[in-house]
Amino acid sequence: MSDLQTKLGGGLNKIQDSFQQGKQKLQTVQEMSQFKKEIQDISESRSSLILRLGEEAYRKIRTGELQDSKLREFTADIAKLDSQIYQAQKALDSLNQKGATKTCSNCGGTIDREDKFCGFCGQKQETPASSNDQTELISCPACEEQIPANGSFCPCCGSRLAL
Ligand SMILES: [Zn+2]
Ligand SMILES: [Zn+2]
Repeated sequence: MSDLQTKLGGGLNKIQDSFQQGKQKLQTVQEMSQFKKEIQDISESRSSLILRLGEEAYRKIRTGELQDSKLREFTADIAKLDSQIYQAQKALDSLNQKGATKTCSNCGGTIDREDKFCGFCGQKQETPASSNDQTELISCPACEEQIPANGSFCPCCGSRLAL
């Protein structure tokens, strides 16, 4: 009888042990995921700070405030990307304008911004002031992109324009 009790007791102990172990394992897993999350959060904050640092350094190198030949190699590559983004943005803008609509002042119909006559009532339309096409272009001294002459900053690379 005592033999059976010992066996039973041992079995119970084993179950309790493994239960404890399981609990500890769960705790460890929870702690681990907490640390993982912490690392991820801190890394994200770090990345955004590095990004700000990079943007600031990039700006300073472009304006000549910061002289560093190694960093300059970086900025040459970034400048190429800036230029590509600028070109794509320009293309996007002009497509946007093409697709833009307006309301006919006579009948209220929705017509193309570029339309000379309303497709509904035939009303002659005022030609839209294509301000963008007539702005004088200059070459940015920093990135050499063709940009409007009337801004204080280059829309492509963000350099301050000495006017
Ligand atoms: Zn109309
Ligand atoms: Zn520029």
